[in-house]
Amino acid sequence: MIYIVQLLCPARHCLIGALIGPDFSSQQEQKFMGYFHRLVADEDINPWCHTCGSREIRAECRPTKYRTMEEAKQAAKELEAEQMETRRHIDSIRRKASRQ
Ligand SMILES: [Zn+2]
Repeated sequence: MIYIVQLLCPARHCLIGALIGPDFSSQQEQKFMGYFHRLVADEDINPWCHTCGSREIRAECRPTKYRTMEEAKQAAKELEAEQMETRRHIDSIRRKASRQ
């Protein structure tokens, strides 16, 4: 089983994520969760969602449906491409709105 650790807003837009391999331990989970919480607390990343603007950011770790890292990486790349397209669309709408 492959796991994913993410920083998410309440609408589940992902700010940052990492896949964790099948030899996953609760100790690794705590390490990732701590690291992600520090990223937000120290503002090493912008601590808000760039899609919806929410500042309620939290870390989450959950199993994926993928058994191998290769399957999970492929799915993650596809989701990332979809999110980037959504982001480009939202940025384009914001640019148009700011010119009016
Ligand atoms: Zn959001």
